[in-house]
Amino acid sequence: MTENESDTVASFADLQLRQELLDALTGLGYEEPTPIQRAAIPPLLQGRDLVGQAATGTGKTAAFALPILQRITGHGAGVKPKALVLAPTRELAVQVSEAMHRYGHELGTRVLPIYGGQPIGRQLKALERGVDVVIATPGRALDHISRGTLSLGELTMVVLDEADEMLDMGFAEDIEAIFQNIPEERQTMLFSATMPPRISGMVDHYLTDPARIELGRAASAKDEPSKVRQSAYVVPRGHKPAALGRMLDAESPTAAIVFCRTREEVDQLTETLNGRGYRAEPLHGGMNQQQRDRVVERLRSATADLVVATDVAARGLDIEQLTHVVNYNVPSAPESYVHRIGRVGRAGREGTAITLAEPREHRMLKTIERVTGMKIAVRKLPTIADVKAQRLEQTRAALWESLQDSDGLDRFRAVVEPLADEFDVMEVALAAVKLVHEADGTITDEEEIPEVTSWPPADGRRGRKDGPGGREPRRGRAVGRGMTRLFVGVGRTAGVRPQDLVGAIAGESRLRGRDIGAIDIADRFSLVDVPEGAADDVIAALKGTTIKGRKATIRRERFQSR
Ligand code: AMP
Repeated sequence: MTENESDTVASFADLQLRQELLDALTGLGYEEPTPIQRAAIPPLLQGRDLVGQAATGTGKTAAFALPILQRITGHGAGVKPKALVLAPTRELAVQVSEAMHRYGHELGTRVLPIYGGQPIGRQLKALERGVDVVIATPGRALDHISRGTLSLGELTMVVLDEADEMLDMGFAEDIEAIFQNIPEERQTMLFSATMPPRISGMVDHYLTDPARIELGRAASAKDEPSKVRQSAYVVPRGHKPAALGRMLDAESPTAAIVFCRTREEVDQLTETLNGRGYRAEPLHGGMNQQQRDRVVERLRSATADLVVATDVAARGLDIEQLTHVVNYNVPSAPESYVHRIGRVGRAGREGTAITLAEPREHRMLKTIERVTGMKIAVRKLPTIADVKAQRLEQTRAALWESLQDSDGLDRFRAVVEPLADEFDVMEVALAAVKLVHEADGTITDEEEIPEVTSWPPADGRRGRKDGPGGREPRRGRAVGRGMTRLFVGVGRTAGVRPQDLVGAIAGESRLRGRDIGAIDIADRFSLVDVPEGAADDVIAALKGTTIKGRKATIRRERFQSR
């Protein structure tokens, strides 16, 4: 890293975070804040409301968790929670809880995740003992509120995390009910990967004069190398080391840099790669200049093939030999992506950039494409057979080259000639090629890596873990002139089809089928557009009936855009 670069980038300490939090971050191997953290932490520490357009992978969790932890007073002392995070899925609730717990450990913060499917007894005990931060899915939070076991009267901070997902899953009503129990005087934060009009409606409804942060506004790829071949592979987390090995075998880079998020990840991955027969060296901010110089020198002299590095350590690095940049995770911001791939393809040379993305990181990948204007092709991971075929092809090409210049070959005559008396020359050649392959050293992974089929979402399906991943309603689609959108509280999971809604509406009200406008069916609710003048009539008529055997809530949709 050059002095200038390190001076211009704000560190966690520059953000005025408490020492206990700084210690926790150092312990986790975080070297510097991600762009969203840099942008969000200062206004949040001042107590402002905030809207952040940010997907998973940007470091958004720490962006809200750190200020919350800093602003809570009397950690571990009170009974009622001071902060509430609402998250769409149990998976995310657990993830956020773990992060909060890790960051707040030294402060003695008591963190409690509450979600459906978990025994309620444990949650009740923890709530009785007292908690500082609750992370909940809306349904279960509401359960506790109505039982009187979760009191939100002392909340000072609320987060709506992945707000677009929560709306997609039909939680708008639950959220509204929860907010009725939260003091007006509070700090509210909303994070969402997308900002359709329905989300803007929520922002206007729940937030006051919020700071607004959109990732990647400033990024530009204009001056960046165009000769970089860019691709991405979608790989489940547990298979990433094998996938990386597979790619390295297929690509056989002359020299590559593999970017990781934290020091720990750098150390672990270096060890894994060395165990698999690659020559990898770690490079991170915990190393002194001399150690770093040595690593760079080993790469230059081809004593190492791979450097596994954090962004901080790699900043300002200029290694001519580099042919490949590998992002072991999707970078936390478009700027960071552009910066990383700038390590190859300098001075008009060709280079390759490869990104491994977990299925849930696909939105960040799309954001990077959109903001940078670069195309990142999502490819299928080479199969074991592909890698083997490619290695054979590389050997064939190398032999061909060697045969072009037969000068140095004569001294091997003593090996081949005696064998040729006994065996066919073809067989001798085959055995020689086999030896070359075996001596190559790298262990080709035989592990099957499952293909992520739900990506990209061909029919709008998301690879959601819990619950049936259904077609998402066309959020934000404007309501037609003279029409009103109605919310009907049954959806695909109840087996509802458009004709069921048309049947119920036309059967019960004065409307005819062709008067009904667009219909969107989500997993747990449906949206139906009807003529403004008939809306009340339709609501009244449907109140007494059932759809697919269920009594459903029906009302005007709360967040409609025109
Ligand atoms: P998130 O976008 O909140 O899901 O975070 C994505 C990942 O980045 C998580 O694994 C975090 O632990 C990690 N992370 C968050 N902030 C940083 C940081 N400043 N440096 C390194 N890793 C981070």
